[in-house]
Amino acid sequence: MRQYWESVKNKPEHKARVSEWNRRHYRKRREHYIQAHKKYNASPAGKAAHKRYRQGLRGKMLTAKVNVRYRTGKRCLFPLTAIQWTRTLAIFNHRCAYCQTDTSKLTQDHVIPLTAGGQHMMGNVVPACQSCNSRKQNKNHRKWMAQEGLVWEHLEAALARLQ
Ligand SMILES: [Zn+2]
Repeated sequence: MRQYWESVKNKPEHKARVSEWNRRHYRKRREHYIQAHKKYNASPAGKAAHKRYRQGLRGKMLTAKVNVRYRTGKRCLFPLTAIQWTRTLAIFNHRCAYCQTDTSKLTQDHVIPLTAGGQHMMGNVVPACQSCNSRKQNKNHRKWMAQEGLVWEHLEAALARLQ
């Protein structure tokens, strides 16, 4: 009997019958499954499972992907690529675009903030030291740099080379 089952299990016609049965069964019980799923998601066990998923590798990758899509926005046709970022770093001599500090810990900063309609693309993303990045926030770069006693001419000259 077992042998017979083993021989029949992987046959295409058998597989088709099983999946057809599963589909019919699901259609009949659809509402029940949806409600059961909702109930599970709202339960402590379901919430814990979701949290585990989010904190796992797959969840983290998914979150990162969504964040990039959110950051770049739908308006952006050509989001900054790794190669373009390398080029940008070279043009800025691997220094902070604002204070020109030579540091290995450069972050990506948007000259025109995303909140002001700037895009995550070459020509708007510049290297910034962590200190400048956190101080500039969403301010206009010319105004902010003047306030800080920094000159913005070299920054804009470098940006022009990236066009
Ligand atoms: Zn800086």
